[in-house]
Formats: sequence, structure tokens, C-alpha cells
Amino acid sequence: MHIIYLLLGGNIGEREKMLQSATLELSEHVGKKLANSAMYETAAWGKEAQPKFLNSVLAMATTLSAHDVLIEIQKIENLLGRQRDELWGARTLDIDILFYDHEIIQTRELTIPHPFIQDRRFVLVPLSEIAPDLQHPTLKKTIAELLASCPDQLEVTKIN
Ligand code: ATP
Ligand code: CA
Ligand code: CA
Repeated sequence: MHIIYLLLGGNIGEREKMLQSATLELSEHVGKKLANSAMYETAAWGKEAQPKFLNSVLAMATTLSAHDVLIEIQKIENLLGRQRDELWGARTLDIDILFYDHEIIQTRELTIPHPFIQDRRFVLVPLSEIAPDLQHPTLKKTIAELLASCPDQLEVTKIN
């Protein structure tokens, strides 16, 4: 069994339903959900002139390899209507693999830990809700520590 952390996000259409459908598909095709954060409304990062995102973070237990997790999440993104789109542009659904156990993976398709975790409050805030003490395997700091020192100022608001 492997423990993975996934970031879910979308800023087009029925964002809440999209995250709920994605969570169901992940439970069916990737593994057992161990924990989920609340949903957060977050200002777009990187390319800021676009609608706000909803984001949440999931922890799951999976028997799949990291590469097979990527294949499954890409299938789910396509199933739920993601168009080919520009980097950091608007999208119905984006699923990123944040961590895969404590592994460090660098292949053509995959960088794990996800390279921007420490730069994004929209990742660190939901992640710190479910895993504040998780150690980042290369930065050697906990999620709570990374959040405390994150320079990102973009708005991240918990929704009910
Ligand atoms: P960002 O990764 O900065 O959040 P993005 O999510 O908008 O950007 P995408 O267009 O969704 O980027 O993904 C581009 C490619 O990133 C994917 O085809 C995938 O092969 C690759 N990739 C590398 N590392 C990861 C990872 N940890 N999780 C998901 N995709 C990854
Ligand atoms: Ca992403
Ligand atoms: Ca992505």
C-alpha cells in the first residue's frame, strides 16, 4: 500500500460538483480515501486574470504505482470534461499528485513531490488541514512550517 496526497482544483462550471465527482472516481479507480480537506475558494495563481478556483486535498491509500496513478487521474480529468488547455489556465478539473509515500520521482511525465507545493497557499492551506506534520522529503520541513514561511499572498478561503 502507498499513501498519496492529491490536489483537486477547478474554476469552470459547477466547481463543487466537479470536485465531488472527481473524489468518487478516485475512490473507484485509484484507492481508498483516508482523509479530505474542506473545499477552499482560491485566487488563481500564475495566471491571475481568470475565475477563482475551488481546491481541496485528498489523502488516499493505493496499490498503484505513481505512474499508474497519473494515468488514472488523467482519465478522470478527461472524463469530467477537461479540454486541452494552456499551462495554468482555466480548467474544469485538475488533479496533481503532491506526494507518493516519501518518494522522490523525476521522470519525463512526473515530478514528485510536486514542484510548487511550497510556493502555493492554495495547496499548503488545505494540506495543512489534514497533514500538518507531514515532512517534505526534499525540503525537510513539515507542511505547517512550509505554510508559515510561504511568501504567496493570494486569497484562500474555506467554504462551508
Ligand atoms: P502545475 O503542475 O504547475 O500545477 P498544471 O497542473 O496546470 O501545472 P498540467 O497541464 O495539468 O499542469 O500538467 C502537465 C503535465 O504535468 C502532465 O501531463 C503530467 O505529465 C505532468 N506532471 C509532472 N508531475 C506531475 C505531478 N506530480 N502530478 C500531476 N502531473 C504531473
Ligand atoms: Ca496543477
Ligand atoms: Ca495538473
